[in-house]
Amino acid sequence: MGVLKKLNDKIMSRHIPFSGVFELTSKCNLGCDYCYVSLLRDELSFDEITSILNSLASAGTMFLTLTGGEVFLRDDFLDIVRYARKKGFALRIFTNGTLMSDDALALFKELSGIFVSISIHGKDAATNDAFTKSAGSFDKIIDRVKKCKELGIPVRLKCTWTEHNIPQYNDIHVLADSLDVPLTASLLFSPKSDGTFSHLSCKAAEEKMAELIHAEYSKISDFQEFYDKKYKNTQSVTKERGGKHLCAAGISLFRISADGSLYPCVLMQNRLGNLKEESFDKIWSENEFLATLRNFRRKDVSECQSCEEFNYCFRCLGITQLEGGDMFSRSNEACLKAKLRKNVVEQLWKEVK
Ligand code: SF4
Ligand code: SF4
Repeated sequence: MGVLKKLNDKIMSRHIPFSGVFELTSKCNLGCDYCYVSLLRDELSFDEITSILNSLASAGTMFLTLTGGEVFLRDDFLDIVRYARKKGFALRIFTNGTLMSDDALALFKELSGIFVSISIHGKDAATNDAFTKSAGSFDKIIDRVKKCKELGIPVRLKCTWTEHNIPQYNDIHVLADSLDVPLTASLLFSPKSDGTFSHLSCKAAEEKMAELIHAEYSKISDFQEFYDKKYKNTQSVTKERGGKHLCAAGISLFRISADGSLYPCVLMQNRLGNLKEESFDKIWSENEFLATLRNFRRKDVSECQSCEEFNYCFRCLGITQLEGGDMFSRSNEACLKAKLRKNVVEQLWKEVK
């Protein structure tokens, strides 16, 4: 067993809140169509944030993603970053990049242990800025990426594929390559934090999703080896997967919203408590919903037990919940993607066989 797997198993079995997402504000200066964040009136003060950071450090958290809204809209954001680094957290900063000053980047370089992740939505100013509804945002993003590179700050681009930018799939990859930065791309659409889907009119159509899945799997260098490892021994793969948790939500992962509420992850709407009223430790160790989540395994969904796509399925409890039914049941979104994934894998396997 690899060292990382052993470490992960230990973290999961002991329910150590190893990594978390901390939303510092729900305000944003851009107006992206697909944004899942809803405006919260109540925002944590600097003292409340540092007190929460203290309790997270004691509980064993190592990785924190600081996000918004747009984190640079907080006047005290750099003080929060300083404090979090002093407590020893490795930080990932999600930003739209447009408000990130040279001074901020100089501080990130000085503090080290900070990874910057900048959202991009199109291959050029015309498409990106139409999406963000902010002229000049594309140029600013490119400029900030270059500045991070120049200073040696780890930086990546982050893109969520939508109907609008899926046709630019190759161009956006070429853009990231030309800047010499990794691109994290996702088909996952987050519902808004108030649980509504009002922003999903731009969701990528099914055939585009299939194209994208095909493009991702086509990048695998030794497909035969990949297939043999992941899918060939169907029954043993099913048995092994069935005994596992679906994901780390509420087990080693958590989210804190801008008003101090604690959730199992970014998508799940189960509010576990508020960190202004109760300690992190108390909620993390005593909450009943977390106990249910930690006992739940992939095989526990009766509808999924005889499913032919079981080994191709990455069901998300948060999305299942937001589809409106029982979160511990099958999911329309997962079924659709699993079917597309299976078709693509079988097609590619036939080609290499
Ligand atoms: S429920 Fe979904 S969004 Fe939340 S951690 Fe699991 S896979 Fe990720
Ligand atoms: S594809 Fe659908 S039915 Fe099959 S395992 Fe996934 S959620 Fe369950």
